[in-house]
Amino acid sequence: MAKRSTLFCSYRHQVLRNWQSTEAVLTKENFVYPILVHDKPDVEEPLEALPALTRYGCNRLEAHVGPLVDKGLTSVLIFGVLQNLSKDVRGSNADSENAPAMQAIRKLRSAFPNILIIADVCICSYTSTGHCGICCDNGDIDIDASVKRLAEISVNFAKAGCDVIAPSSMMDGRVAAIKSALKENGFGNKIPVLSYSAKFRSFFYGPFLEATKSCLPKQDKKMYHLPPASSGIAHRALKRDIDEGADMLMVKPSFAYTDILRDAKTMFPDIPLAVYQVSGEYAMLLKGAEEGLYNLDDGVLEVMTGLRRAGADIIITYFAPYVLDWLSVKK
Ligand SMILES: [Zn+2]
Repeated sequence: MAKRSTLFCSYRHQVLRNWQSTEAVLTKENFVYPILVHDKPDVEEPLEALPALTRYGCNRLEAHVGPLVDKGLTSVLIFGVLQNLSKDVRGSNADSENAPAMQAIRKLRSAFPNILIIADVCICSYTSTGHCGICCDNGDIDIDASVKRLAEISVNFAKAGCDVIAPSSMMDGRVAAIKSALKENGFGNKIPVLSYSAKFRSFFYGPFLEATKSCLPKQDKKMYHLPPASSGIAHRALKRDIDEGADMLMVKPSFAYTDILRDAKTMFPDIPLAVYQVSGEYAMLLKGAEEGLYNLDDGVLEVMTGLRRAGADIIITYFAPYVLDWLSVKK
């Protein structure tokens, strides 16, 4: 006679369920809040493309972030958005004196000395081409020039006071160049690199591109974002970034890529792993709840738990302010 299963007894009590779920427990420290910073310092502009989100000028950040820090927010991810300042081929206003990201890092550093400030490093929000690198005359990406520029921006963000550099461009060699530039400027042992390593070409980025006023019409970044159907190239991209010295890895987007998340955790179990729940995924979850398909907190927390279970240690999400409230009154 086959042995009768008794699995049920292992999770019938709440404490037993907690013991079964250590890898998928949600704490406030798991969440990073991405903030879009407007280049007009006093602006507070609701985002049509990203419902329930706002672009803040740097003078408005403290009032917005303060209550979230009081609720337990521990980490933010900074993106600059240009509306007034000009865009050019090399993305000069990524890290100029008046650049929104530079100002935001300085303001947040002085207002909240203890939060972890992660600076996204790319130039697509600041270039006239909308590309993540500097383009050659024939439209190709000039990898060497791009990587050099990304390293330069990273050092300036480090000098402004950020804690983590997060290169999102997918340019080959960027992690090595950034690590080396940080080291040369005295930040080698101070600032880790969280690399957007397995970043796929995705149609779920749409609202973000609109919100950051990207010059590139919707798509196409095919030449450097990974093809969605391939796991092999994603594994190689993760390995490339580790070989170049990345301190933390990221998979982006989330919903359609949880297998890659699991693969990344299996390949590099000792490296903190982040997942980015992107704008389209955020909007989709929000709209589903608005339509009455599920309660927003139940639906979103279930998804977050799934991302943790798949291997994410860090979840970057526009839902971070909501999650802080929900975890404060955990069911
Ligand atoms: Zn970019």
